[in-house]
Amino acid sequence: MKIILLGAPGAGKGTLANGLIKELNIPTISTGGLLRSEMQAGSPLGLRITELMTSGKLVPTDIVIQLLQKRLSNSDTKNGFILDGFPRTLEQAEYLNKIANIDKVLNLVVDKQVILDRICGRRTCRVCGSIYNIQTYNSEKCECGGDLLIRADDNPETVAVRFDTFMENTAPLINYYNEKGILANVVCDGSASDTLKKALEILKK
Ligand code: AMP
Repeated sequence: MKIILLGAPGAGKGTLANGLIKELNIPTISTGGLLRSEMQAGSPLGLRITELMTSGKLVPTDIVIQLLQKRLSNSDTKNGFILDGFPRTLEQAEYLNKIANIDKVLNLVVDKQVILDRICGRRTCRVCGSIYNIQTYNSEKCECGGDLLIRADDNPETVAVRFDTFMENTAPLINYYNEKGILANVVCDGSASDTLKKALEILKK
């Protein structure tokens, strides 16, 4: 099964993806995660990416596609994958259309204020990528023992730019996939397990 998770920054795509991996036994590909790995490598490309990501703007599509193609060529994607953070523009959606038959697009619907609260309290494990919120998790270590970090782009100024970028570039994809008849809305106003349950019900149909 090939799934896209669509939603504003902080809507809960990464958390839902982590839950779906265990249930569906297919990998999640987060283009943000691929870009962060490139940043950590400290290459010239990584430095350019850092500048764009920390400002909240989109990284050029050719760079993202290059990283995505490499990841998709891995054999673990042969039974499907969950895309988190791709596509983010109509241009990227058209590209994806040519290389994969997407089965379902889950559109995570959540109130802007809830998003801002979630992002401000978000902590991500340096080792396994698990996502926590300080409102519900009171430790500086992940359950795997890894340190919990605040993402460089999870500050109020960058979040505001990321949200505007989403509204301008990515929100049009809701209509795009709705017209293709593969979009389903998932209202994510409850707990992570609640959202996972709703998503699984949709995917079973
Ligand atoms: P995310 O981890 O999905 O929140 O992405 C973090 C940042 O990575 C975004 O704000 C963008 O700067 C960049 N990014 C991730 N995915 C894409 C994409 N598909 N196209 C362009 N930039 C991206």
